[in-house]
Amino acid sequence: MGSVGAKEVPVLLSPDGKRIDGRKLDELRSMRIVAGALHQADGSAFVEWGANKVMAAVYGPREVHPRHLQQNNKAIVQCKYNMAAFSVDERKRPGLDRRSQEISKVIAEAFESVIFVEEFPRTSIDIYIEVLQANAGTRCAGVVAASVALADAGIPMVDLLPAVAVGKVAGKIALDLKKEEDNFGEADLPMALVPQSGRLVLLQMEGHMTGPELSESLDLGVVGCRAIYEKMKQALRDRYQLGGPSEGAAQ
Ligand code: UDP
Repeated sequence: MGSVGAKEVPVLLSPDGKRIDGRKLDELRSMRIVAGALHQADGSAFVEWGANKVMAAVYGPREVHPRHLQQNNKAIVQCKYNMAAFSVDERKRPGLDRRSQEISKVIAEAFESVIFVEEFPRTSIDIYIEVLQANAGTRCAGVVAASVALADAGIPMVDLLPAVAVGKVAGKIALDLKKEEDNFGEADLPMALVPQSGRLVLLQMEGHMTGPELSESLDLGVVGCRAIYEKMKQALRDRYQLGGPSEGAAQ
């Protein structure tokens, strides 16, 4: 541990270029995706990504609640991202806060741009994301889980939506930040990509980086998203080729 003022900060990058968990700058944390992990939902997925554990459930297209939100020419996409009180080190106060509202909104908007919403007028497609254990990048894990859950529910989309956060750690651009890197790094840039078109449908940034660093981050994020895309497709193949929940799902 080094120190800045009174605050203890961990050494984020070793002299030989290794990160706090031994990863290289362009390396993802390990990821496991289970499609169809829940029985009650129309579609579901569970994602373990590093120390993140995130469940997504999808319902719809179904009747709109509250009714006044109904749109005559398309489905609406509603998302509720929630972090469990036990998901973080310091107990999180349960319920809706500004952060969860913001994350729910950006995720709903990202999916609205890939789902064929015009095919289901006057309905709602509801996405629930429950973060059971958090270690940075939970909105991206939520997008990955929700995307596989939407596919599992048979909801027509342009493409799956892989997502990852890139950031700046000890002056270097790094893929898929974990908690210490998110907390003590210089920037955090979550993104979600439509792989076939290369369109970004979610892009946020906290912190500071230069123009060239931003473009390096975007390039690295796109490479990361494409690798995650392969894992998402494999989870769906596992589920449907085997005719049941994919490996690891309890019956
Ligand atoms: N976090 C926390 N308590 C909170 C919110 C966040 O401990 O109330 C942690 C959690 O590990 C989260 C990380 O801080 O994953 C980074 O949060 P951020 O808001 O950047 O969103 P995320 O990276 O999870 O999408």
